[in-house]
Amino acid sequence: SPQIVWLRRDLRLCDHQALTAAAEAGPVIPVYVLDDETPEARRMGGASRWWLHHSLEALAGDLGRHRSQLVLRRGRAADVLAGLAEETGAGAVHAIRHYEPWWREAEEELSERVTLCLHDGNYLLPPGTVTTGSGNPYKIYSPFRDAMREAIDGFDIIPEPSLSGPDAWPEGDDLTDWGLLPAKPDWAGGMREFWDGQFGMAAATERFDRFLGVVKDYGEDRNLPAEDGTSRMSPHLHHGEVSPRMLWNAMSRHTNAGANTFRNELIWRDYAQNVIQQFPRYAEEPYRDGYDDNFWRNPDRGHLIADELQAWQQGRTGYPIVDAGMRQLWNAGWMHNRVRMIAASFLVKHLLIDWRHGEQWYWDCLVDADYGNNGVNWQWISGTGVDSNMFVRIMAPLSQSEKFDAADYIREWVPELADLSDTQIHDPDDGCRPKDYPAKIIGHKEARERALETYRSSKR
Ligand code: FAD
Repeated sequence: SPQIVWLRRDLRLCDHQALTAAAEAGPVIPVYVLDDETPEARRMGGASRWWLHHSLEALAGDLGRHRSQLVLRRGRAADVLAGLAEETGAGAVHAIRHYEPWWREAEEELSERVTLCLHDGNYLLPPGTVTTGSGNPYKIYSPFRDAMREAIDGFDIIPEPSLSGPDAWPEGDDLTDWGLLPAKPDWAGGMREFWDGQFGMAAATERFDRFLGVVKDYGEDRNLPAEDGTSRMSPHLHHGEVSPRMLWNAMSRHTNAGANTFRNELIWRDYAQNVIQQFPRYAEEPYRDGYDDNFWRNPDRGHLIADELQAWQQGRTGYPIVDAGMRQLWNAGWMHNRVRMIAASFLVKHLLIDWRHGEQWYWDCLVDADYGNNGVNWQWISGTGVDSNMFVRIMAPLSQSEKFDAADYIREWVPELADLSDTQIHDPDDGCRPKDYPAKIIGHKEARERALETYRSSKR
């Protein structure tokens, strides 16, 4: 009987445990369900939908090479899949396990209605595999990383299976009818330019091969926003166009320090998912006590944060490195990691605005918006999470900008500052600010003192 493969953030043919298991069991019907109901408030953001459109297009092309088809359906996933199983007489639904809380619930419901075969494969190791000596999951990154390094000894990558199709294909939607691309206004021009048509498994693998040529410098270059020194695999990994296991294996010949650092970054991704598995609402609620609505500047207590939040979102805070990052985010749907940290720290510490506003904005604007990675990194920067309390470690945007040589990065994303010299550009309020660039929304010293005082009084 036919086997349904339920595709979500695993839009690839290679190293796909569910697809391979289905292909061994019978003719395969690959299905993607656009489900805006199950995730409720965690409906996919605008930039991710844009990426999804292109990724599905690439996947449909890859399936076409196997004389297979990608069936598109829309609705509540558990209902759609149960209905499709009945319609096609499918023997089973196969899927790669996902850990977002809404997907776990959907998997549970579906397993009561059809034969659901869940497989691992979107992480280096299934979350929960690596545990402390006493058998508990890790909460802190460094010991988790060490245990992962110990546990991983390369992977057996599963090749693309050969696929046969059912006698009759079920009907599906037309991708262009889903409206995943913006209509008017067309806000995706910057994203088209930045990503240059590079979607899907083949494009991701090609980009990664090029990155391997410079991976030896990754340790230093990964901190320099003006350099193209990171892999930019995040949207490919998030949507599952490549598996992290494929990247790990592709690096096996590389023993330099840069490759070693890169492996640790891939482990961060697994770590985030381990945290989500333990604390499913981690991206919604602070883990630590004391960081509720009363800690942050809050409209309910008369703080007018709306304009400041908007200035941050639009990249008009008067801090060039923050503004460059926020404009890169809006235009490209991606932001350099160093600047993600600086901009996030600025929101929660300089502006004292609840990290959840920032998390939401990143969620909507990032092509790699990921429930685990986004939530875990926001709580880490904010000092509200499982790690040691970082709230009092306040990043200084101006010195970060100098230290990590961001002048050309600022020129690219904040063109009104392009004519300033390498020394002036980090802090144009020092007497050289062009008229069309805003003054600082708050002074650094003042903001720092306010944040520290807020922290101190919250402990009294
Ligand atoms: P590289 O440096 O080439 O790293 C390779 C891969 O390792 C990345 O693609 C990613 O999958 C993983 N990785 C690297 N750093 C981290 C990290 N700190 N946490 C988890 N995984 C990591 N990443 C997302 O994928 N989605 C998000 O929604 C997201 N939100 C973030 C929010 C904040 C506030 C911060 C500080 C970081 C966030 N990150 C997020 C992590 C990181 O910034 C991006 O993964 C990275 O910038 C992507 O670029 P790259 O692929 O070139 O990374």
